[in-house]
Amino acid sequence: MRLRFAPSPTGHLHVGGARTALFNWLLARGSRGAFVLRIEDTDRDRSRPEHVDAILNGLTWLGIDWDEGPYFQAAGVERHRADALRLLDEGRAYRDFTPRDEFERARDAAVAAGKGAVTRLSRELAARVSGAEGARRAAAGEPFAVRFRVPDGETSWRDLVHGEMRFANAEIDDFVILRGDGTPTYNLAVVSDDADTAITRVLRGDDHLSNTPKQILIYEALGRPVPEFGHLPMILGPDGKRLSKRHGARAVDAFQAEGILPDAMVNFLALLGWSPGTDEEFLSRDELVERFSLERVLKKGAVFDPAKLFWMNRRYIAGMEAGELGAALREALERDGVARDGISLGEEAFARMVTALAPRSRTVAEMARLARPYIGPVREYDAKAARKGWYRDPARTVAVLGAVRDRLESVPWEAGVLEDELRALAEELGVGAGKVFQPLRLALTGSGASPGIFDVLLILGRERSVGRLGRAVGRIAEES
Ligand code: GLU
Repeated sequence: MRLRFAPSPTGHLHVGGARTALFNWLLARGSRGAFVLRIEDTDRDRSRPEHVDAILNGLTWLGIDWDEGPYFQAAGVERHRADALRLLDEGRAYRDFTPRDEFERARDAAVAAGKGAVTRLSRELAARVSGAEGARRAAAGEPFAVRFRVPDGETSWRDLVHGEMRFANAEIDDFVILRGDGTPTYNLAVVSDDADTAITRVLRGDDHLSNTPKQILIYEALGRPVPEFGHLPMILGPDGKRLSKRHGARAVDAFQAEGILPDAMVNFLALLGWSPGTDEEFLSRDELVERFSLERVLKKGAVFDPAKLFWMNRRYIAGMEAGELGAALREALERDGVARDGISLGEEAFARMVTALAPRSRTVAEMARLARPYIGPVREYDAKAARKGWYRDPARTVAVLGAVRDRLESVPWEAGVLEDELRALAEELGVGAGKVFQPLRLALTGSGASPGIFDVLLILGRERSVGRLGRAVGRIAEES
């Protein structure tokens, strides 16, 4: 099996494109076939090299590797043209010299006269110019479009997703394959390229369904084997409307920047319109390659729910080996510039932090945000937590935190001991443990929420904990 992904570099790799790429890749890998990458860059105005880079980077990040290419469609223009001219030579296409406005006038008149289909109007108008005259005008340099002469009958195929598909040829316009400026149109270029690279199966979005009969007609006219076709269901937002930015659908690289893991993204994309046939939701890449098949692709639209992606990602994070997760976190911290001067924590404290933060993080980026107070200084204290935990009774807070600091200066720095000592201290002070832990948490992390307070102490170490307590006490005394 030879499959391909053929993105147009007019933007970043979006969820829909990534899903198309993934399904093709899964079929190629599962059948030991080939996966070809072709960049469809014939739209000069909208194609950008930076979009090519973004698409290649997106695929690489997802682990979707290709066996051939990237081929660039624009490099094949001479071949596309040759194919069009061959069809012209063989009478399967014709020259159209009719100016656009003249065609439109004729069409309006035909419609006004109650003529139903006008799909052969171009042909009728073009027939006013004899073959010999057409050749003479073309040789004299007059521009003309080349239109495909749609034959009578109907065009059908067994779609790998939708089953039997049938189009009456009478409803298909004699479409342009070569424009007046000599550039090939999409339908011609795609067929020419897919035939040239011997693609056996074309799997793409539903939005191309109406192109398929035209492409089949071109294959047949060129005498090339027609590949199999499958059209993937549209991706919808949770409200059932066509997916858009409004639904939180961003380019794949935005999810990458947010700390989604590639395996989670691949797992999530695989379930956009496909199901393993059971209620399993977590499938590794290898399982997907083994189990993916088009029989289980749904015909109806697939719903994209970003909350589900983040939920899945959390599970992937929880399942990651600690060393691997630590490495991903270091990378994110360095990228964010939090750890520009290296990470101040020792190995053991860093590992403890990773373990403590993992269950609280939906993404590695979120984990990096949560890690800030352990890596860098605490500059701000959460105002709401401070009002509640510090300023209701500032004098008592100063007394409690002062006592905690004194105790922490001397106790052995071990989890069990710290807990016993702080609970004993609360009792001595005649306050509940929460009245000690909450103000302490805020002093140490700047926030009202954190992993367990003893973990926080162990991550920060004695010196930094005591220093932060001193600073917090100074601040509370100053502000009250
Ligand atoms: N370049 C087309 C697109 O991005 C895809 C063409 C195809 O898959 O046949 O929509």
